[in-house]
Amino acid sequence: MNKIVRKIEKQHNLSLEELVLLIGNDCYDKDLFEAADRVRQKYVGDGVHLRGLIEFSNVCSRSCFYCGLRCENRNVNRYSLGADEIISLAGRAKELGYKTVVLQSGESSVYSVDKMVYILREIKKFDLAITLSIGEKSYEEYKQFKNAGADRFLLRIETTDTAIYKALHPDMDFSNRVKCLRNLKKLGYEVGTGCLIGLPSQTPLSLARDLLFFREIGADMIGLGPFIPNPDTPLSLERGGTFEMARKVMALVRLLMPDINIPATTAMETLSPDGRILALQSGANVVMPNVTDFVHKKYYNLYPGKSGADVPAAFAKRALEEKIEKIGRFVSEDFGFRKKNI
Ligand code: SAH
Repeated sequence: MNKIVRKIEKQHNLSLEELVLLIGNDCYDKDLFEAADRVRQKYVGDGVHLRGLIEFSNVCSRSCFYCGLRCENRNVNRYSLGADEIISLAGRAKELGYKTVVLQSGESSVYSVDKMVYILREIKKFDLAITLSIGEKSYEEYKQFKNAGADRFLLRIETTDTAIYKALHPDMDFSNRVKCLRNLKKLGYEVGTGCLIGLPSQTPLSLARDLLFFREIGADMIGLGPFIPNPDTPLSLERGGTFEMARKVMALVRLLMPDINIPATTAMETLSPDGRILALQSGANVVMPNVTDFVHKKYYNLYPGKSGADVPAAFAKRALEEKIEKIGRFVSEDFGFRKKNI
């Protein structure tokens, strides 16, 4: 095995230059996937945590160039579920055996703080862990959501390359996104972040810096996905990311941060049949199946061909469980909080 791969597996640390070398060459990939699988097994075990994803609104006031929900996109049927619909989907997730629900939406002010607090309090009565993924809010708002029962928050940095960040988010401010992550940490959330792989102009150096950022910010969870061009966005003609590159960066995350939670993402499954299972065998230990109702999940079009959009939630969960068992793993029975182990 290559010396650098051995080093990252043992020391969970590499220099920026070494990371660039691994990212820029595919000859190390197989060794990296296997090393990440061993480190996953050693630090977080064979349990796979399932989180039920509820995409509760696709209304968005942002203009992110890669995202199909961007406010300029007129080809989207916009929806915002009512509080009781969201609560009832969470109840359904509980019935299906989930221990966590992830409430995700575009970034908007459709839901007042009081309404979100009501939704969180009601869902908490089901004894579920709650992850929010609703974008940038103030410290005060994050605090109220935390007090109402939110346990975790997902806010991808998307890229730490500030030139790319600026080009793709003309109306946003990189430093505010970092500040949000720090505020969430301060408030005691389990914090998830991550990036898109294969954005225009992204280089191995940008990705290596993303990796070091994840560690520096103290992330408890890292979600990575290949960028998949959406025809209704300004990036429609771009090439997008590959499954293999996303899988490799994910394996590197596991090797650098051995005890965190890492999802096998839907975007990975979209680009490769059984992409999620391959991801679970290359460092991942979490899957977030969609539990949004049929009518709405087809309108939550971040990118085309989103995997699982046409499968009923109960059926998808059973099929996934079977696949997980087939690779010698099991569905975890606990809430799946990060167990600090390093
Ligand atoms: N509004 C929330 C949730 C964003 S949607 C927020 O700001 O955090 C969840 C994730 O989908 C985004 O963080 C982004 O990384 C991903 N995404 C958006 N468009 C995508 C595309 N075209 N291909 C792959 N992933 C995409």
